[in-house]
Amino acid sequence: MPTLLIEPVARLIEAFARLPGIGPKTAQRLTYHLLRAPEGEARALAEALVAVREQVVSCERCFNFSDAPLCLICRDPVRDQRRLCVVEEALDVLALERTGEFRGLYHVLHGAISPIDGIGPERLRIRELLARADDGSRAGAPFEEVILATNPTLEGEATAMYLAERLEGTVVLVSRIARGLPVGGDLEYADEVTLIRALQGRRAI
Ligand SMILES: [Zn+2]
Repeated sequence: MPTLLIEPVARLIEAFARLPGIGPKTAQRLTYHLLRAPEGEARALAEALVAVREQVVSCERCFNFSDAPLCLICRDPVRDQRRLCVVEEALDVLALERTGEFRGLYHVLHGAISPIDGIGPERLRIRELLARADDGSRAGAPFEEVILATNPTLEGEATAMYLAERLEGTVVLVSRIARGLPVGGDLEYADEVTLIRALQGRRAI
């Protein structure tokens, strides 16, 4: 098969195939679509790809993706500054925002504790989370609630337990989203009703 493909085409197929959720067949289909598409379409895609790499940075407070030192949520004065929702990935922020159920701030860990994969707390944004909680506490305005919304997986549960222990004493309440989510599931794939129930049914831990 590779003999049939000229090099630039093979290279694009390969690049698409490396993306999550895209198998070799889809990679070929996307590539051939772009070959037939108007010049402007391919160019717009290429420019959009470069732009996300060049213009998107990590929010220095919550580590969500951002176009400025502070992300849209962190710089929104209307958000409840005393409530914090801790998630594994930036995609989880999108999923929770779609529910409209939470009006506080976020903290994106960028993963979960997983000793098997060699991921300890120091590999995640946990130090920064604890510092945020500490700062609030020392300023006399501790977080009224920190919701641990890590995934309902082994790693997500272990991370939540670890955080609950470390946050104790610096925040008023630590809660964990309810179990309505399928075990082993991923927050970003949960439907909105399930997510709303999980948030509403959260419990103190
Ligand atoms: Zn932010």
